[in-house]
Amino acid sequence: MLRLNQKLKIGIIGAGPAGSMIAYRLAKAGHEVHILERKSSVERKVCGEYLCPKGVELLQDLNLLEKLCHKFSPLFGMVLVSPMGEIIPSYFPQTLREEKGLSLHRKIFDENLLQLALDSGAVLHYKTVTNAFQKTDETWSVVASEEIFEFNFLIAADGRQSKIGNHLGHVDNIYTTRIALHCFLPRKISRGQRLGEMHILPHGAYCGLDPVSDDEVNFSIVCDSLRLKTERPKDIINQEIKNSKRLSEMFDPVTDETDIKIVSSLKNKNHFIAGDNLAYVGDAAGFIDPLTGEGIYNAIQSSTILADCLENYPDVPQALAAYKKRKKQLSFQKNILNHFFQFLIRRSFLIKLTVKFLKKSPERASNFIGIIGNIHDPVTGFIKMLKA
Ligand SMILES: Cc1cc2nc3c(=O)[nH]c(=O)nc-3n(C[C@H](O)[C@H](O)[C@H](O)COP(=O)(O)OP(=O)(O)OC[C@H]3O[C@@H](n4cnc5c(N)ncnc54)[C@H](O)[C@@H]3O)c2cc1C
Repeated sequence: MLRLNQKLKIGIIGAGPAGSMIAYRLAKAGHEVHILERKSSVERKVCGEYLCPKGVELLQDLNLLEKLCHKFSPLFGMVLVSPMGEIIPSYFPQTLREEKGLSLHRKIFDENLLQLALDSGAVLHYKTVTNAFQKTDETWSVVASEEIFEFNFLIAADGRQSKIGNHLGHVDNIYTTRIALHCFLPRKISRGQRLGEMHILPHGAYCGLDPVSDDEVNFSIVCDSLRLKTERPKDIINQEIKNSKRLSEMFDPVTDETDIKIVSSLKNKNHFIAGDNLAYVGDAAGFIDPLTGEGIYNAIQSSTILADCLENYPDVPQALAAYKKRKKQLSFQKNILNHFFQFLIRRSFLIKLTVKFLKKSPERASNFIGIIGNIHDPVTGFIKMLKA
């Protein structure tokens, strides 16, 4: 049994926020930490680049906010736009020390976090695509592009298409036809306030806007991939811009030069999570459609919980059992919430009712995005909405 009072050789697959955060904590605790990353440098990932207020608060609690995020601008709330064009500006509820989110730049944020891990003593192996994983006795062997690594303890932080999860049969195949179209768009007008925007579009599609800089907006649409059979990505985006008064005031139609990225696999369900000297963190441990924009927070939070468990228990099996329990509790709540919102945005009569309900009081709208931004747990948030 691996005891935690000894120095362990730990392999971490993936240098995204989850991998870098756990590498930082474990290297700081004195373990020998190796990060294996398939890419040759940190890239700006396809992401809405919105860090929810709870994520900002967590970084502050860890004393890392200034170090990682000093270059980024705040977001004070979100404008909700219904398919009928109704606009509900809403501000994060004032219940936290940090009642604001942030507009990140993923390349800078991921680089800062990775640097923190390296400064704490973690070793980074770039261009290392890991392909096969096998455990014999107390050792995990990882077959990578040009080398075989051996570790006492393995952490999978390889994202929502987790190779390890698939290789070891720890992920359930979930069929989804949802895709995201993502690009950066220059905006014609600035509305002054720093607010993100969530546009609910017909047929369960939605569009998220994050004003990442004064003149550029991070723009993503999540819709059904079937549309790609008859429309090009550019046409889908232009159709939605044309159909919306607010979007067409903000953006010119996109052109052939616009760099539009398409991402699929917007779901990953992992039934294993932790055990056998192996733990999954971040998207590799589970990913749901990015509707509520909390993937970065989840990545940092799961790695923080795992590091805390490894610090507080005497051996790895006990620490992993505690991590798994906590992670399951959290994903249960998040899954219910996400499914509820997915159900809501597919039913126009429910959207109409919700809009009517939220428009009655700014405090209601504020508590609604408080639930989305993880500021309120769902039950507290709903009670506050009803009372407002
Ligand atoms: C369209 C879209 C919009 C989003 N918008 C937001 C948002 O606004 N806010 C938010 O909080 N979240 C958002 N997310 C989610 C967010 O991007 C992820 O949750 C976050 O990046 C998860 O971090 P991670 O470290 O778990 O995984 P990743 O960031 O995916 O990192 C995984 C790393 O593992 C590496 N890797 C993968 N396989 C291997 C292998 N076999 N060997 C070695 N290395 C490997 C990859 O190269 C990568 O660097 C969005 C996601 C999508 C798809």
